Amino acid sequence: MRVALVTGAAGGIGSATVSRLSEQGYAVVGVDLEEAAESDTVAHVVGDVRDRYVLKGAVDFALARWGRLDAVVAAAAVIAGGHPLWETSDEELQTLWDVDVRGVWNTAAVAVPAMLAGPDPRGCRFVAVASAAGTYGLFNLAGYTTVKHAVVGLVKGLAADLVATGVTAVAVSPGSTNTPMLDATADLYGISDPVIFSNNQLLRRVLDPEEIAATIAFCCSVDGAVLNGSVVHADGGFRP
Ligand code: NAD
Repeated sequence: MRVALVTGAAGGIGSATVSRLSEQGYAVVGVDLEEAAESDTVAHVVGDVRDRYVLKGAVDFALARWGRLDAVVAAAAVIAGGHPLWETSDEELQTLWDVDVRGVWNTAAVAVPAMLAGPDPRGCRFVAVASAAGTYGLFNLAGYTTVKHAVVGLVKGLAADLVATGVTAVAVSPGSTNTPMLDATADLYGISDPVIFSNNQLLRRVLDPEEIAATIAFCCSVDGAVLNGSVVHADGGFRP
């Protein structure tokens, strides 16, 4: 049985990823600030990705209960903004950096050694969730754009460090997806209905978290090795 760690596991994309991986036969350990459902093959740790010891505890739990770690999905993040770069407070930028970059960094720093030391490094995958914002740059979201671009840099550096180990790293970059974060984004823009974000995508609809989870699940698979070091644009044809 393959074993996965998913951060942001109580969120829209994270919970859909936990479900998708479970359906595919994975055992999953989730991490989130919020509670989430557990089962025989899904465990959940309530904690903060800014705290490396929380992540270490989740990895140790996976190893103790299921004996291995094959896939890691770093999806926990926050969004902030609603104003131009020059009106962004130090506190706001710091929070974005701490959760959206350092949280992914902590996850990799704790989980990758466990994958390298495991029984099958060649089947191990690290998947970070970036954003179309980080690729294109979105109006009044300079801080979020910056940190999501940094997540891509993190993945590229990690993939290089993992050369020839068999463990791979990839960034999945979703477009506008129907989750609480999209509602929060609408609030930042003063928009009452997030369906307006459909206009950003050539599909002309907001994506479902299950669609992003399906992409993430492929990235987690053994076949996902071919995506090493790349950015997978799961964005329905994003055009800002
Ligand atoms: P979401 O708000 O539903 O989920 C995010 C989850 O992260 C929440 O459950 C939250 O509790 C958790 N979280 C936040 N800070 C945390 C912390 N410090 N420690 C632990 N958990 C924490 O949002 P989502 O849309 O499911 O976002 C998942 C990922 O997808 C994020 O990385 C987000 O940036 C990215 N993304 C989302 C969209 C979109 O349109 N929804 C688009 C592009 C990228």
